Amino acid sequence: MTAQKPPELKDCSRLVVKIGSSLLIDAATGQLNRAWLDSLVGELERLHQRDQQVIIVSSGAIALGRSYLGFDSDRSKLEDHQAAAAAGQILLAHAWQELLGKRAIKVAQILLTLDDTENRRRYLNARNTIETLLASGVIPVINENDTVATQEIRYGDNDRLAARVAEMTSSDCLVLLSDVDGLYDQDPTQNKGAQLIRTVVEFTPELQAAAGASNTEFGSGGMATKLEAARICFSAGCATVIAGGRQLLPLQAIEDNTPCTWFIPSCSPRAARKQWIAGTLTPAGKLIIDDGAEGALESGRSLLPIGVVMVEGEFQRGDAVVVTNAAGRDIARGLAAYSSTDARVIQGRHSKDIESLLGYRGRNEIIHRDNLVLLDH
Ligand code: GLU
Repeated sequence: MTAQKPPELKDCSRLVVKIGSSLLIDAATGQLNRAWLDSLVGELERLHQRDQQVIIVSSGAIALGRSYLGFDSDRSKLEDHQAAAAAGQILLAHAWQELLGKRAIKVAQILLTLDDTENRRRYLNARNTIETLLASGVIPVINENDTVATQEIRYGDNDRLAARVAEMTSSDCLVLLSDVDGLYDQDPTQNKGAQLIRTVVEFTPELQAAAGASNTEFGSGGMATKLEAARICFSAGCATVIAGGRQLLPLQAIEDNTPCTWFIPSCSPRAARKQWIAGTLTPAGKLIIDDGAEGALESGRSLLPIGVVMVEGEFQRGDAVVVTNAAGRDIARGLAAYSSTDARVIQGRHSKDIESLLGYRGRNEIIHRDNLVLLDH
């Protein structure tokens, strides 16, 4: 915990904004808090106009669905939550579409399960879909697919889900908006003297203890899940800010330095991802490439199938592989866009022939440059 300067929200090129149920839903009526949502959407428009890419993780389906279906507090079994989520999600999606649509911003819904973010191949699919939407100027609105996720395979809270989304999209900032204005050094409901921690640059046992366990009326996440989310982002090089969102214009308040808690990582998302590819993953196979492809990689381009002369080992799409030059030296590591079986079929061939060779239209690159790290030599 130091006085290190937090990043500026306006400088972030890609942000994930997670909105807790307690902000979206009016506790007294169980209805959507439209005035608040409209004000937030105005802020998203501002970010959009500044060419910042925004991904929303929106809670609220279960709370909204419960009031819509007239469920009282006794109805709290998993199937009640799932039925409520099914009814509430459609209301939630409509509200986002209507309010963003009024400002001519297109919106798309993505419902994820734990497996979509933890299993590498599904992770790559989700990542590609989000990238495609962002490149088309669309704001993705994400929630957990609560209607199908069973207890064992659920996140259950959107804090960690939002962190995984931030990690998978190499976002530079995760904004956790809820009814708490940050992390305190002691429980503020018990201790009047509790101090808000303004910046965090390392995770310590004291921090964990400070987070304790606090829950809000509607949301599933407390401070512990927020801290866990911040930790996931931290190792992905993504900053996290925990901020109160009860007032209108909560993002503006963060830009204006309202008291909140910033978690500031020591490296960028790009550097963290490259580190992960180069150092953490165990390669499952090898691609031996020709001189032309080696030159292309050295000038920062992707690896195309035409430059691959041999495929060694057995791997799946999304697995890490080593890239070796004609002289047998390991020159790069990357994530394969094809399985070893498919890679053997397309090796040495033009990308335009991929569809006729494999029967499906995959990526042009066998390793995209975003998923490739050159090794030092
Ligand atoms: N996915 C849940 C919902 O939409 C919210 C989980 C959470 O509160 O973090 O209701």
